This record gives sequence, C-alpha cells and structure tokens, in this order.
Amino acid sequence: MAVDVPLRRLFDYRCPSGVDAALLQPGQRLWVPFGRQRVAAVLVELASSSTVPEAKLRSATALIDETPVLDPSLLELLLWSAEYYRHPPGEVLSAALPGALRTGAAALETAEHWTLSAAARTGELPPLSPRAHKLRELVEWLQRHEAADEAALGALSSRWRDHLRELEKRGWVRRLQVTPPAAPRVAVAASAGPEPTPEQRDAIEAIAAAAGRYAPFLLHGVTGSGKTEVYLRAIDAVVQRGQQALVLVPEISLTPQLVARFAARFAVPLAVLHSSLTDVERLRAWRAARSGEAPVVIGTRSAIFAPLANAGLIVVDEEHDASYKQQEGFRYSARDLALARAQRLSIPVVLGSATPSLESLERAQSGRATLLSLPGRTGGAKPPAIHLIDLRRHAATQGIATPTVLTIKRHLDAGGQVLLYLNRRGYAPTLFCPSCGWAAPCPRCDARLTVHRRDGRLHCHHCGTEQRIPELCPTCGDATKPVGQGTERIEETLASLFPDVALERIDRDAVRKRGALEAALDRVTSGEVRLLVGTQMLTKGHHFPDVSLVVVLNADQGLFGTDFRASERLAQSIVQVAGRAGRAERAGEVLIQTEYPEHPLLAQLISGGYDAFAAAALEERRAASWPPFARVAVLRAEAARSDVPMEFLERAREAANALAVRGVEILGPATAPMERRAGVHRAQLLLHAPSHSPLQRLLARWIPTVEELPEARKVRWSIDVDPLELF
Ligand code: ADP
Ligand code: ZN
Ligand code: ZN
Repeated sequence: MAVDVPLRRLFDYRCPSGVDAALLQPGQRLWVPFGRQRVAAVLVELASSSTVPEAKLRSATALIDETPVLDPSLLELLLWSAEYYRHPPGEVLSAALPGALRTGAAALETAEHWTLSAAARTGELPPLSPRAHKLRELVEWLQRHEAADEAALGALSSRWRDHLRELEKRGWVRRLQVTPPAAPRVAVAASAGPEPTPEQRDAIEAIAAAAGRYAPFLLHGVTGSGKTEVYLRAIDAVVQRGQQALVLVPEISLTPQLVARFAARFAVPLAVLHSSLTDVERLRAWRAARSGEAPVVIGTRSAIFAPLANAGLIVVDEEHDASYKQQEGFRYSARDLALARAQRLSIPVVLGSATPSLESLERAQSGRATLLSLPGRTGGAKPPAIHLIDLRRHAATQGIATPTVLTIKRHLDAGGQVLLYLNRRGYAPTLFCPSCGWAAPCPRCDARLTVHRRDGRLHCHHCGTEQRIPELCPTCGDATKPVGQGTERIEETLASLFPDVALERIDRDAVRKRGALEAALDRVTSGEVRLLVGTQMLTKGHHFPDVSLVVVLNADQGLFGTDFRASERLAQSIVQVAGRAGRAERAGEVLIQTEYPEHPLLAQLISGGYDAFAAAALEERRAASWPPFARVAVLRAEAARSDVPMEFLERAREAANALAVRGVEILGPATAPMERRAGVHRAQLLLHAPSHSPLQRLLARWIPTVEELPEARKVRWSIDVDPLELF
C-alpha cells in the first residue's frame, strides 16, 4: 500500500475482513490503520507474503473504491516517477489525486445513499438497545446529516455495511438511489476556425497521421504564428474519433480568454484543472476527465496526472516554461512526464513553443522528436525590428535612456501602445547610504532589501521579511536613498515623462486581488491604457495586438548568471516579450537596453533570432557537457547552523564514492551563492553523468544510505533530478 507519508517505501497490510482478496485491484483505495490514525491509502500491489512479522501485520479496515482511482497505466507512470525522481511513492500518488480523494471521498458520484426512515425521524420505532453502541452511533450520525454515501459511511466505521443492513431490517434507515446526471450529448465543432495555412496543414496532418502510436512533436513557431490553431485542429480530430485530449499550459496563461477560445471551438464539456480550484470543483473536473464526459481536459502542471478514460493526444503549450517543473516536494517535470505518459499510452504528444527549451530542440535534432515549424506570423504581420541601446553611451532618466524616451514618444504619437519589461518589482532594489556605503540588508538572508513605495516599507524578495524604511542610515546617521529601478519606480518615471498618457503596471504587487489582472489586461486590450510596465507576468500568454514597441529595460541580469541555464532563460524572456509587439498589421519595434551591447548572446539574438542563439547555446552545452548532453541531479541541504549542511553533504559524498558507480562525477559540496536564505544556510552536492542510466543506478543505491546518515536528521535535505536551477 502507498501511504501519504514522507517515507520512500510501501507498507504491507492484510486484506480487510469480509473482502475477497481475489477481487482487489491495484489503484483502489482502502482505509488502513497508520500509527494511531486511519488513512486512505492506495493499493499498489497484491502479495502473498510479507517481510513484516505475522504478529505485527495489521489489517486494512475497509475498501473505499469499487473501481481503481488510478488506472494501471497511470499507476505505473506514477510509480516509475517516484523511482525516477527518488520521491516517496505515497506522496507521489497523492499528488495525482484531488484533495478530496486523499481523505476518502467517493471517486464516483455514488448512486446509493442512505437516510433515516420517516418512522425513525418521527420517533415511532422502539428504541435501540443501549448496548448496541455501533448502531446508535450510526443513527445519531444520520440524524445530523441529511443523507450519507458510501465514502462518508466508510469513514465512520469499517463494518458500516453490516450495521446498515441491520438498521434497514429494523426499519431505521432507507436506501435512496441517486442517479448521477447523464453526460450531456452535444455536437462537436461549435465553430470551424480559420482556414489553416499550408504550414499549419502540414503540422495538423503529421499529428493526425501519428494517431494511435507514441510520436513526440516539437511545434516551433513565433508568438502569433498559429500554434494554438494547430492544437485546436489536432484536438478536434481526436474528439471526432471519440477520444480525449489533455492540454497543459503554464499557470499564468490559463486565462479565461484561453478557456473561452477552447470553449468557442468545441461544443463539448471542458474539464479545467488548476491550482486555485476549490476541492469540490477539482473533484468535479477530475471526475469529468476520468469518465470521459469531458473530451478536452485543460490544466496546469499537475493536470499531467489527470485520469483519462480514452486518451488520444497530449499537448504541452509553452513547453519551455519553468512552471512545468515543480520546485519543491515531488520535483517532477510535467513536460517530461507528458512524454513518458504519451509513450505508455501510445499516443502523440505535441510540445509547442516560440522559444523551445534546449532539451526539446536537441530531442528534435537527434531525431527523437519530429520538428514542425510555423515560420511566419499569420496575417502577414512582420517580425519586429530589434535594436540595442547602449546604456553606457546614453544619459538615462531613472533607468530609461534618452533614445528610448524618444522612441516611446514616437510610438505614442503614432497611436501605438508601448510595453516596458523589467523583471524586478518594487521601487528600488537597494536602499543605500552614499556617505558610508551601507545598504539595507535582510536580517535573515544574504541579500538586500527592496524598497517598496506601495506600502512605504522594505521587503525581502527571498524570505518575505519586511521592515519600515529607516529615515537615517543606522551606521552613520546620514540620509539614505533608493538606488536602482524596480517597476514601481519606472511607473513613476513614465508618469512624469508622459503625464497625459494612461499607464498600467502589471506585477505581483499590482494585481494581488482576484480579478485585478483581468481588469488591468482589459484596460490594455481596450486601448484605454497606452503605456504598460511589468515583470515576467507580461511575457506569458497575454496577447496585446496594438503594442507597437517593446522595451527590455535591463537585459544584463541574465547575461552573467551563475546558472548554466541563465542565458537560455534570458533569451527566452526577451523573445517572448518581443513577441507581444506588432501582432496586427503594424510592424513592431523592440529596444533592448544593456551595458554590454557587444555580448555574443545579444548579437546572436539580434542577427539570427532565437534559432541562432539556440544553436550556439547548444554547442556551448555540448562542449561543457551540460544537459541535454549530460544528466545532473542535485542533493540540497539546509539548516540553521552554517556548518551542518556541509557536514551532511560531505558524508553523503563519501557514501556516493563508496558505491563507485562508473561514469558519475560528484561535484562539491558547495554553499549556495546566496548562502543564507530565510535564516537557513544552504549547500548542495552536484551529481553529473553522461547519461541517465549510471545516474539512476547510483541514485537507487545512494538515496537509501543518505536517508540513514545520522547527519541527515540535522538538516532538511532534498534530491532534485533534472533540476531547473542549480540553487
Ligand atoms: P500562437 O498560438 O502561435 O501564438 P495563434 O494560434 O493564437 O498563435 O494565432 C494567432 C492569431 O492568428 C489568432 O488570432 C488566430 O485566430 C489567428 N490565426 C491562426 N491561424 C490562422 C489562419 N490559418 N488564418 C487566419 N488567422 C489565423
Ligand atoms: Zn551611512
Ligand atoms: Zn530575506
């Protein structure tokens, strides 16, 4: 049995009494005693013997599901993922189930309910014997509840069926048949959509021709090239065949507009799965996916585990997006699991992006995926012209160089909209004392505090610490000043430069309230707002058809990152934000402000676009033997005392060396570049191998010994296989 606890093992139980073991199936849930609790656990395997001594082996108390909640293929994928990512299987299986099912709710809308009989309610029946505790308990419970289904009763007692039968015989309870509503029958294809271009047609046909077998595709095309249109057509074909399509999108792009676009196309129920659903909504969507009632399932990362009655296609939109990798707990990549799942289901899978990850590009180059290219923008819109603005040569007003100001003015005068991108929220990243050099530090991190105008306070963007802004420098008593730019300050500068132009700021602080982002985006698309400043939030999903100028205010943060993916991420955000410009007939313009205009990455991006950058970046990765030309895993550790994580990692390193797995290189341990965060010290050990199998061989034997290290109890540690970031 898989129990939802942080232990890398399964647990043995006896079959519940009164249940025929021959009828049990993996993927069913059972109530099991765990310590002093009773929990819903998932049956993984039936065994005829156990290593647990006879006397200690406990019995499962009751069966929850008639039919498994996880079908064999999904169960197998989950168990494989638990092995691959070295994560406790109980937690992995839990991640795949809606919260309500983890606590024992009914997977199906149960047909049978029980309620007290009319005679019981009016008190006409002879009282139950005081000794019949269980029966009385059940009656009392039913008095407090209108009706109960199997799952609710199962949670009360393991012998509820016997008790109910007895009560039914004595006239206390009545059985109700509640028929779940039948799936509505509707015609497919609510609207036809535009006639595909020849390139779109080729892509649609290639995907259709792969029906019924595993075939990975990389759909590469700039924003506005018609990728979504290809998904819609490919999905339409799947739905017409009576199958289901699963569509994954990054959290931030699962907007009502996107759902509306799908809903307008398919007159069939959509199941939408994302992180802000209530338990009830999530369970409903999960059921609709599992029953096949919803032929199209759209969701964010964890929707990769949605049950599918009859899968025909998986689509991963914006496949390069970092949100597909879970960064804590079960550190899976939904993009990678989409491939693994499609393989098990023998169905095609389409990864789409304007800026594919280097992993996916390499997959296509090596022939392990088919590249489908959409070269141009639909409607003949021209690609934007990109120019660099050398920040060293031009005077700047609070981070906006003079040529940039003039260009903004030109676009505004011509009736265009302007989008400014800066991946730093707040007013200024530093509060500085010019007299003595003091810079307001976070007391809990090796980082500086950011000045925020919104609430007039200092905030740490790493741990959430806040403080009031000191009026005078605590070291020398002189006046301090905010240094550098955040989105709030850019907003202020723009307001003084262009006082008559309506302006909107979009970042995490500005759109805190539910619906605020939608409202802000509406003001932009309606044309009311002409100047738009924002963070990463702007680079994803949203379409701004009238934006004619995009300004990347500071490209330099990513140019010299310590992480091997830093330049890939920078190129992706520049290209993604540039893609928001000039969607319509108007040709767009893009300005990139930098202090390093001669940097090769920027030169490649400008002369050859993302493809040229990616080709060069892949060569660099190959030469340096980084993914996708190697596999890495990271063992991270953190503790309040500074020496403890390193000690633990040293022991872990010795244990790994002792296993002597050929081909795996062990690097470190090393402290994190920002060693202290939120009051804890952090360090890591990097495992590097030319391919996946030696790494997995080592991990399989190593992690159990790491778990047993005495030092492991003094730290919080985690293993991250295929990490997205090194720290
Ligand atoms: P992407 O997903 O690559 O950003 P979309 O599929 O959203 O691109 O297409 C961009 C715009 O072009 C949308 O408004 C879409 O309706 C339109 N479009 C897509 N394909 C065609 C086509 N073949 N003919 C006309 N318009 C199209
Ligand atoms: Zn000072
Ligand atoms: Zn902090």
